Amino acid sequence: MIPAAFEYHRPGDLSSALALLQEHGDDARVIAGGHSLIPMMKLRMAEVPHLIDLQAIDALRGITIEGPRVTLGAMVTQHEVIASDALMAVAPILGEAALQIADPQVRYMGTIGGNLANGDPGNDMPGLMQCLDASFHLEGPEGARSVMAREFYESAYMTARADDEILTAISFTAPRGGYAYEKQKRKIGDYATAAAAVMLTREGSTCAAASIAMTNLSDVPVWSAAAGAVLVGTDVGKDAVKAAVAAALADIDPTEDNRGPVAFKRHVAATIIARAITRAWGRA
Ligand code: FAD
Repeated sequence: MIPAAFEYHRPGDLSSALALLQEHGDDARVIAGGHSLIPMMKLRMAEVPHLIDLQAIDALRGITIEGPRVTLGAMVTQHEVIASDALMAVAPILGEAALQIADPQVRYMGTIGGNLANGDPGNDMPGLMQCLDASFHLEGPEGARSVMAREFYESAYMTARADDEILTAISFTAPRGGYAYEKQKRKIGDYATAAAAVMLTREGSTCAAASIAMTNLSDVPVWSAAAGAVLVGTDVGKDAVKAAVAAALADIDPTEDNRGPVAFKRHVAATIIARAITRAWGRA
């Protein structure tokens, strides 16, 4: 398949990109790595008369770690995440999740910003960013604003980002404790049938804090406050894990598709959530 004809723009700075978005309105879309948008255009599921490439905008690049605060430019690629020793030292869960996205070719091009802005419930980074309680930084004609990852996703492909805004960066406090990103997929390179991001902190033999988020188990990523709360104050033993899984399952709403019926997805979800909790606790 080849996409419908489009005009290609390559602005050199953010204000030029925003001006192009304003000028062409509904006819324009930004493109980052293109590994979600180009397939949609080729399938003619998206028609974009004006494509605004963000590749030449340096302000959207770079990984910054200042004290406990981590900031990723929206154009940081999944490969750059994995390759950053500094980032892996403070937030290894990002590398564990990124390594489970597609294959090296996709990861060389696919960006964190594109993965988050896309709003595809199958994308791995949104649930992870909810687990980390990240903030998304947006810039538009009215100026800059930030939206919490846990408040960003409205429904499949619908987010709090306005059409004339660009996601510029993502920031979060470097997480403490044990981590795990567990993903079940049909084959290498596939999107998740179900995935879970878990962060746990330990005080002695007790869980002091817990954050649990899930991917592709609803039309938006799901951060389960209840599942985390169940674990806090426990020794994360068998019963606590079972209770946390039950709480997480109460928060999801999977639908039947070519990855299986609802009962199967709930079964897979229960298995990977339990695995992620157990692995995170082992690292805490
Ligand atoms: P693009 O495709 O360029 O853009 C995606 C959307 O986001 C577009 O609507 C675009 O307008 C918008 N956008 C991009 N950047 C910005 C920005 N800065 N501000 C505002 N809007 C923006 N992903 C997974 O998470 N897990 C997988 O298992 C997985 N498997 C894949 C397998 C294959 C074979 C392929 C081709 C892709 C797969 N992906 C997977 C998707 C891949 O990770 C994408 O690269 C990523 O989701 C989108 O990033 P991108 O930079 O390519 O965005």
